Amino acid sequence: MAKNVSVCLSFDFDAISIWVGPFKSQSPSTISRGEFGKVGTERLLEVLRRHQVLASWFIPGHTIDTYPQVVQRIADAGHEIGHHGYCHENPAAVALEEERSILERGIACIRRITGKAPLGYRSPAWDLSPYSLNLLMEFGFLYDSSMMANDFTPYYCRLGDEVHTDGPYIFGKEIDLVELPVDWSLDDWPYFGLHWPANHVGLRNPDDVSRVWSADFDFLYQRMGEGVFTLTMHPQVIGRGHRILMLEKLIEYMQGHAGVTFKTMSQVATEWKQAHPLAKAE
Ligand SMILES: [Zn+2]
Repeated sequence: MAKNVSVCLSFDFDAISIWVGPFKSQSPSTISRGEFGKVGTERLLEVLRRHQVLASWFIPGHTIDTYPQVVQRIADAGHEIGHHGYCHENPAAVALEEERSILERGIACIRRITGKAPLGYRSPAWDLSPYSLNLLMEFGFLYDSSMMANDFTPYYCRLGDEVHTDGPYIFGKEIDLVELPVDWSLDDWPYFGLHWPANHVGLRNPDDVSRVWSADFDFLYQRMGEGVFTLTMHPQVIGRGHRILMLEKLIEYMQGHAGVTFKTMSQVATEWKQAHPLAKAE
C-alpha cells in the first residue's frame, strides 16, 4: 500500500519569555539563554529554506513584542504562527479570566504580524486548565497540540469528561477541535535542556536523540504507513551547531522516503478534519 506520512516540524520560539515568565529570572546570564533563541531561529529559517520545508512556529506574545522583525521574517517565509501564551504562562496555574485575557493578548500579537488570528494553539508546558478547551472553541481555534492520547494519529478533543476514582473514568463528547498530539520523547528540551527540571542533566549526544526520533519515524512509516510525525523543538535548544546538523540529517533522511510530505500543522488539521468529519451530536 502506498505510504502517506506527514511530517510536522514545530518550533516553540519561547526566547526570553520562558526565563522571565515561569522561571522568574532577572539574571542577565539566564536571560541570555533565551536570547540565543533568536540566533537559533535565524539558523533554522535557513535550514528550512534550503530543504524547502514549511514549519509551524508557536510563539508567545512576549517573543513577538520583543523580536517583531524576526517573527515577521518567519511569517514572510510562509511558516505558520500558532499561539503559545503571552509570557509562557501555564494555563492550569491561572484563573479563568486571566487565561481568557492571555489568549486574547496572544491572538492580538499574532494578528499584528500575520493579519489573521492563529489556527493552532500549543499550551506552554503542555498543561491545560479545565477551561482551556472551551476557550479554544470560543476563540475559533482549529486545533490544539498539547496532549498525548495518541502518537501519530490526530483525534478530536473532548469536553465533559468525568473523573472518578471509585469507578471508571467517563469520557465526554468529542468537540470540533482537532488534537495533533505531542510527546516528551519527541521534544528536544528533555534530552538537551540542562536544568529543567532542576535535577535534569540534558546535553545528550545528538546521535542518541536522532536514533530515538528516526526509530519513531520508522515505526510510523513501516508499520503504520499513514499518520503524522510531529517533532517539537525550541530554537534556543536545537539551534546549537551540533544539534542543527542532526536535524538537517534527519530532515534529509525523512525526505528520502516515498510518500512523505512535510506540512504545517494547520494544513494537517484541515485535511484530517475533512477526511474524518466530527459525528453530529444526537
Ligand atoms: Zn514553550
